[in-house]
Amino acid sequence: MLAWLVLIHVTAAVGLILFPLPSPGVALGALAVCWLGGIGTTVVYHRALAHRSLRLNGVVRSTLTFFAVLNGSATPQGWVANHRFHHAHSDTEDDPSSPTFGGFWWAHLRWIWQTETAPPERWCPDIKGASYEIWNRLQPAILVLSYFGGLVFGLEAFFWLGAIRLVFALHGQCFVNSICHMRATAAAGHDASRNVWWLAFWHLFQGENWHRNHHEQPRSARIGWTMRQIDAGWLVILGLERLRLASHVARPKPRLAPAAETIEKTTFARAGMRSEAGGI
Ligand SMILES: [Zn+2]
Ligand SMILES: [Zn+2]
Repeated sequence: MLAWLVLIHVTAAVGLILFPLPSPGVALGALAVCWLGGIGTTVVYHRALAHRSLRLNGVVRSTLTFFAVLNGSATPQGWVANHRFHHAHSDTEDDPSSPTFGGFWWAHLRWIWQTETAPPERWCPDIKGASYEIWNRLQPAILVLSYFGGLVFGLEAFFWLGAIRLVFALHGQCFVNSICHMRATAAAGHDASRNVWWLAFWHLFQGENWHRNHHEQPRSARIGWTMRQIDAGWLVILGLERLRLASHVARPKPRLAPAAETIEKTTFARAGMRSEAGGI
């Protein structure tokens, strides 16, 4: 993992020196791959699999999973196991990516290679079978494709479609664990999640930056709750639902009172992976 992180950062740095400004075609291609990968992560990994907020057509799920793996978001089993672990222990000493207890760089990046992946057999026994496990075997080949694939279009595309895009996508996701869990007014050991408006631009408006909303109602498939909280992941889900490619979509409930929020979090921790609402 550390070798991969060093490789993409060094390659991205070289690429930015050689090609500081990409041509419009290469920039659009990199943004398109990055956006599809982000949608795969937020709609499939996060909302559909980790929290069971909706059910997806198998072809849609597999296609978006491919782009999520291509974007460096790991495999469904690893991602879901780590994420459910995070929700069950968020902002406590047991949270694997807590900035409260580990500091910014720990939460942002270091935990990725300095902690073990939460065991999938404990945290996501429901994410098993060939359609999920195949991604564990395919991941190395997909990452080789992700890193080198742009070479088909030349050296500039090699850097921008490959390492620069991967580093951009990586840090966008890392900010959810670091900055989106750094609310100064939160007491140590209590939920420190927060919405970070400017991260919407880095996330290409996919919705994950409204992280306080998400911790308040993790079961909701909608993360941005107002017109100003743009949530492209939710718009994609609505489109898929209209096309009958998504079903059982969980809408946000009227906001919970603080006391109820505390009760739900306690229930999470006790249940390990399932809240009263039917998922985390
Ligand atoms: Zn969180
Ligand atoms: Zn979540």
